[in-house]
Amino acid sequence: MILLDGKVASAAVKESIKQETDVLLANGKRAPHLAAILVGNNGASETYVASKVKNCEEVGFQSSLIRFDSDVDEETLLNQIIQLNNDTSVDGILVQLPLPKHISEAKVIETISPNKDVDGFHPINAGKLVQGLPSFIPATPYGIMLMLEHYNIQTKGKHAVVIGRSNIVGRPMSILLSSNLPYGNCTVTLCHSHTPNLNELCLQGDIVVAALGRPGFVKAEMVKEGAVIIDVGITRVTDETAKKGFRIKGDVAFDEVAAKAAAITPVPGGVGLMTIAGLLKNTLQAYKASIGV
Ligand code: NAD
Repeated sequence: MILLDGKVASAAVKESIKQETDVLLANGKRAPHLAAILVGNNGASETYVASKVKNCEEVGFQSSLIRFDSDVDEETLLNQIIQLNNDTSVDGILVQLPLPKHISEAKVIETISPNKDVDGFHPINAGKLVQGLPSFIPATPYGIMLMLEHYNIQTKGKHAVVIGRSNIVGRPMSILLSSNLPYGNCTVTLCHSHTPNLNELCLQGDIVVAALGRPGFVKAEMVKEGAVIIDVGITRVTDETAKKGFRIKGDVAFDEVAAKAAAITPVPGGVGLMTIAGLLKNTLQAYKASIGV
């Protein structure tokens, strides 16, 4: 069984980004710049944004963190995004989701310039992805593709089962795996909360991507011997014995599934780290387009 280690794979991606950035800086170019917006003080969001900022520093990018209280009005937030759209020193903009209920996520996403949409959530980038045109790929599915590439997991002609159809993970993942790409060309089954025979379908998957947010959902009896298992789930499960009072759990019952799998990602230490690698790749791509290299 191969452990698809996000630490190892993301370190390799980050090293190549850093080398490219170092050359650009040595040639007198400015650093790539990611601006992150955080609304409120949700614990998980704080952690994600802090990690993104730290990772920017590690590869030589500039980053800005713009914070708003949870009661910020929608117009103020949209105006901030417009300001960043117009700021030529900013290459990538991300607004950490989820947002408070009174703010429309759709409006926020559509306000970000598609050229700076390094999360790849804008409908223009989503549409381009569907048509196989160059675009910003949502960071988590992008990170998973980078993971498959790093470990040279063969996908062509395989049956991939994706569980979850969100715009940020499951749906774009299903598109990438079915696309004519080096680590695509799968036949994809996309399962969701209304899929009646999910266990049977999952059992047919050569590759299973679990992205539903239900800890331990994928059990050993649902996967076939030798399958490749990608666990996207991140759920904080209360645990009094843990230092922080919770543990991070994936969507896969790791121990029992690992015993049958050919390869599997751990949680934590798997897809989450690759998501950041995907985000950094997108930011570098936005920067290169912006400065014309
Ligand atoms: P979401 O809530 O937007 O979507 C969940 C999807 O799962 C829905 O399409 C729903 O139809 C499906 N689903 C729910 N229950 C189901 C069931 N019982 N059977 C079949 N399908 C079911 O969630 P999301 O934003 O796509 O995130 C999914 C999980 O991935 C969450 O745990 C989230 O925290 C995690 N996540 C991790 C990363 C990362 O970097 N590792 C990034 C994004 C999301």
